[in-house]
Amino acid sequence: MNWLLRVLIIFVSCSSALLADEKNGRLDFYFIDVEGGAATLIVTPADESILIDSGYPDNGGRDRDRILNVIQNVAKLKHLDHAVVSHWHLDHYGNHAALADKIKIETFWDRGIPDSLKEDDKFADRMALYRAATQNKSRKLKAGDEFTLPTPSLPVQVKVLTASGEVIKNKGEPNPFAAKHQPQPDDETDNAKSISVLLKFGKFKFVCCGDLTWNTEAKLMMPNNPVGQIDLFMVTHHGLNVSNNPVMVLALDPRVTVTCNGPTKGAAAETIATLKQVKSLQAMFQLHRNVALKDADQAPAENIANMAETAQCKGNWIKVSVDRDGGSYTVQIGQDGKAQTFQTR
Ligand SMILES: [Zn+2]
Repeated sequence: MNWLLRVLIIFVSCSSALLADEKNGRLDFYFIDVEGGAATLIVTPADESILIDSGYPDNGGRDRDRILNVIQNVAKLKHLDHAVVSHWHLDHYGNHAALADKIKIETFWDRGIPDSLKEDDKFADRMALYRAATQNKSRKLKAGDEFTLPTPSLPVQVKVLTASGEVIKNKGEPNPFAAKHQPQPDDETDNAKSISVLLKFGKFKFVCCGDLTWNTEAKLMMPNNPVGQIDLFMVTHHGLNVSNNPVMVLALDPRVTVTCNGPTKGAAAETIATLKQVKSLQAMFQLHRNVALKDADQAPAENIANMAETAQCKGNWIKVSVDRDGGSYTVQIGQDGKAQTFQTR
């Protein structure tokens, strides 16, 4: 091989090593505070980015600007690769169109766009905005879809567990908590149709389910557990008690939980009681203090990102960062928070 080719090869391999070093091969999650909505940014070691949900619209662009701040100033991204809508409620897709005005979004994903939505009489107008932002090219996710995102370290594997009320095949070990299921009246809203995903990075496993509700959780997790036990769980539906069926939460057996609640929405006493029964639980985190609960009845103050009520809230985020071999991860609140380290199960 001639000397110029050798020099070029050394140069290229050094610069790609430098690029990989900047993020150290880590997989990062940012749980962005949108005051009781949801907005979760995932950044792979290859800097591929996925935003699941986008908070509430209006409020002077509050949630849009908090999300943009994390994308551009914290994660230092210039564009978004994927923007997902878990389901058609405004606290979840409130800023997809507004974000697309400010930053390039390569691909939009959702569960498919229904003709109308019983609980939202302005749905048609809102969909006109969404369709314009996506140039009517959003892609539909269904239960069982699988994706592999390549990275310089381990691939990130994503599996869709539920979408549009459908669930993956109920294969796996018997769920020892199946007998705990107490059916509730069927949920006719779009919550029950939420997209849920399992993300794997080596041995590390993360689950988030949008606002999936009680009976669909049971449909996914009974009689067998097709998901297995996990490390990190984004507590479903802001921690409301119409979700987080013990049949699901106890079977997933997460070590760490993050609840995307607001001061007066979610992190319900019943849900926290269920989390406290999780055998392997090591730490629970909340985006907000629930103002209606005593301090002893929720996450410890050092694990709550925002103590203030919405009017005074600074919108601190929670970051989870998984190391390059998926063997351990840190959880940190805001830029200056102290990182707590957890071992992958
Ligand atoms: Zn919601």
